[in-house]
Amino acid sequence: MKRNEYMRCTLCARNCGSDRENGELGYCKSTSEMRICRADLHRWEEPIISGENGSGAIFFSGCSLGCIYCQNREISRSAVGDAVSENELAEIMLILRDRGAHNINFVTPTHFVPSIITSVKIARDGGLDIPIVYNTGAFDNVTTVKALADTVDVYLPDYKYYLSKTASRLSFAPKYPEVAFSAISEMVSQRPVPVLENGLIKRGVVVRFLLLPGHLAETKLAVSKVFRVFGNNVYYSLMGQYTPPTDMTPPLNRRVTRGEYDELVNYAADLGIANGFTQELDSATEDYIPKFKI
Ligand code: SF4
Repeated sequence: MKRNEYMRCTLCARNCGSDRENGELGYCKSTSEMRICRADLHRWEEPIISGENGSGAIFFSGCSLGCIYCQNREISRSAVGDAVSENELAEIMLILRDRGAHNINFVTPTHFVPSIITSVKIARDGGLDIPIVYNTGAFDNVTTVKALADTVDVYLPDYKYYLSKTASRLSFAPKYPEVAFSAISEMVSQRPVPVLENGLIKRGVVVRFLLLPGHLAETKLAVSKVFRVFGNNVYYSLMGQYTPPTDMTPPLNRRVTRGEYDELVNYAADLGIANGFTQELDSATEDYIPKFKI
């Protein structure tokens, strides 16, 4: 059955209107055929998401943002990976649940939202009883987030940029600051208060801030903006794991310094953020995502 949502696609704020249902690629490098690159237990998310057993992470190929420093270019910029039907995706969710996943964590899901909604319904009819996490760069149109109200339990959006000029330079998305903030606002309106059980989040919003080298002032502004509006009704994840691809120019050709990261953490604490996660920078290497701590 053809889906209207994919025929003149406006799922993300690129609004490129591609006819993905008839094989056209969007800016996201995807037709309507769902493709996944990896599905596995993932232990490197925030502790309220990964828990002891891990999060059931399902990584989609393609992406609507295309950040110049992306560390997953091979999967974000092409239609690689395995094509899966809605039924197959539902089966994968149930397998991850049976392996002990605390939740199902859709990574970079925006461009497949209509199919994901159907798959989750199928999986729930088949007995899926763990939370659904929507792990997004947040370049989602509000209508897309609204469509997820009965599907998603936990929103895990980035808030990457405060300034339009930075969003334009690094992700070719000058509207990102306002688009992402609107998307996050809709997420919080759906899940206004975090609900935790046994140290795991069951419902709520966790906002991620990836500190980029040389961009401390802007990240502070981003954190401050979210805190002013949502206070401690959302969780804040301060990420220092940036790893530069080899073709980056200064300042993006280095990791963040301990001084930069500590200043961000102290700033967040001074603002009054109580629901926060930080990372242990010392452990950052090319292939190791540093642990989060509370
Ligand atoms: S999800 Fe893809 S096709 Fe749809 S508007 Fe965004 S970039 Fe374009």
